[in-house]
Amino acid sequence: MECPYCGNELIWNDYFGKIKHSEHYWLYPQSWIEKRGDIYKCENEDCDSGVFNSFFYTYGNNDELKEGYPC
Ligand SMILES: [Zn+2]
Repeated sequence: MECPYCGNELIWNDYFGKIKHSEHYWLYPQSWIEKRGDIYKCENEDCDSGVFNSFFYTYGNNDELKEGYPC
């Protein structure tokens, strides 16, 4: 995955998603994250995308990069 601004290889930073809880949470008190997409960061300090701290993300199975950090 390349930065759309400077062409640098983006570093995988994290993934994001929706927090899910077990239906039987009283038996299995656990939660997990249903993955929605990946978060990448451009580590080029000269990158033009300073507004969003050079974060980008993808959503779902779509490889289209979006700028910023998902809420
Ligand atoms: Zn960049």
